[in-house]
Amino acid sequence: MKSFTWVGGRPSVNFTATLGKRLQDPFERIPAPEDLSRWFRDAGLSDDLVDVSPRTYSQAIDLREALYRLFTGTALDVDVVNRWSSRPLPGPRLTPDLTLERPATAANGLLTVLARDAVELLASPLGDRIHTCAADDCSLLFVDESRAGRRRWCSMNTCGARAKMSHYRDGLRTSVNSGRG
Ligand SMILES: [Zn+2]
Repeated sequence: MKSFTWVGGRPSVNFTATLGKRLQDPFERIPAPEDLSRWFRDAGLSDDLVDVSPRTYSQAIDLREALYRLFTGTALDVDVVNRWSSRPLPGPRLTPDLTLERPATAANGLLTVLARDAVELLASPLGDRIHTCAADDCSLLFVDESRAGRRRWCSMNTCGARAKMSHYRDGLRTSVNSGRG
């Protein structure tokens, strides 16, 4: 069972990470409808495992790829995302003791949730802050919410740490070479 990654900062951005290593050797983190169901739960979009039909599953993959193209600016094709974002969703409601009750949302409703998240993100100032990790072999997207806007890595624990390490090694090599003079 493949594990998921959550470096994107937004559900719609994290969703694009369910296809890993896009730029080199893509692998599917949600190869089957059950995996998508797990992803929805792990992403906090549903409390329980929802049923995902084969049809919803293939629509989810289409939506994911449309999101990726929009986030990376490779194709500004908004139709797929708009089709999902404009669908109605059951709203939250209050119980008599005034606690919020979130209606259980079916899998295709969760695609609407993801599409709306993307629409709001892309139309906001953060829409210009969606970046691909700077590591050559990493295709993860993230929303750079740092004040300076100079975040380069999906995570400082993985790609950021590796980059620092190789920078350090390059530094050593240079000093050894210059030592030989
Ligand atoms: Zn990375």
